[in-house]
Amino acid sequence: MRPDTPAENADHTAEAARLERTAGLYPEDAEALLLQAAAHLELAGDRPAATTLYDRLLSSADGLEKPYLVRALKASNLWEYGHEAEARAIIDGVRAAAPRDPAPWVMVAEALEAHDELEAAQETFTEGATLLLRDVDEPPYATHPLLFGRHRVRRMLGADHDDWDVLADTLHSSPVSLDELHDPKRIWSLGSDNPQELAAEISRLQAELGTYREALSRPFPVAVLHWPASELTELVEAYPTLAAEYPSHEEHLSTIEASLRELAASGTPNLGIVTGTVPSYEAFAASEASSPADVDLLPQYATTLAARGRAEEWPPQRGAACWCGSGNTYETCHGA
Ligand SMILES: [Zn+2]
Ligand SMILES: [Zn+2]
Repeated sequence: MRPDTPAENADHTAEAARLERTAGLYPEDAEALLLQAAAHLELAGDRPAATTLYDRLLSSADGLEKPYLVRALKASNLWEYGHEAEARAIIDGVRAAAPRDPAPWVMVAEALEAHDELEAAQETFTEGATLLLRDVDEPPYATHPLLFGRHRVRRMLGADHDDWDVLADTLHSSPVSLDELHDPKRIWSLGSDNPQELAAEISRLQAELGTYREALSRPFPVAVLHWPASELTELVEAYPTLAAEYPSHEEHLSTIEASLRELAASGTPNLGIVTGTVPSYEAFAASEASSPADVDLLPQYATTLAARGRAEEWPPQRGAACWCGSGNTYETCHGA
């Protein structure tokens, strides 16, 4: 995951700078944007600058939406450049605070795992799972990385499968089973006979680590604009010229799905959906010294929302709710 060419480093540094500028323009999005900027700084190898950003977030007067995630990311980053004691203190603090969000649990457990503290990593994954999977029938999508990470660490420790490991196996949907992916014997049995194969196996395992950070550092997506039903009604009433673009809400939704499938079929990577609201669209039009009635403004509005980190990934993950807000899973709704 670490970029190894100067060109890639330069891209990450430039992207971090762009995100910081955007955060300055849109304070309401600053937390998400600065977390993305910090991920890019980490990928550029500038860990002290990433720490500075995490500290800036943690000292913000307004309070944070995800304070424990920021702490967990900061700890993980600190440990990567030699600040082990400080990192451990933060990790202990996050565990003691018992956040209800799975992401900080995954971050601190992976930090321990990355530094070969497998027992502590297993305990941390288990603490998080115990807290977040109590009284749930079906583990929410956001908790899957907890179960997968726990499964991985337990195989490294040579533990037998327990109920949660079995659950992790059933939730995992990829051509390679979780057991095959996490089997330490596959790595050790290769021995030194074939160093290339060994390296490939190890990097495949490591690729699983840091997925959260990787998600944070993706470039901003090509996004299609979505209006919820009530917003679309209000929009077309206020700006009748837009009615040609949006004959009905149902048609609007089908057009979104069709456009995204077309983009995907043409090989466009990193697609997303941004959700518009009439007040934010009007504010955008004003900032562009343009009229909201101008159809050409719609794609620009979508791009701006995407650059502000507002896009939802498309297609949604397996089992996740449909982007249209119907409450059904994507497979049984617009993904059908
Ligand atoms: Zn398994
Ligand atoms: Zn739908």
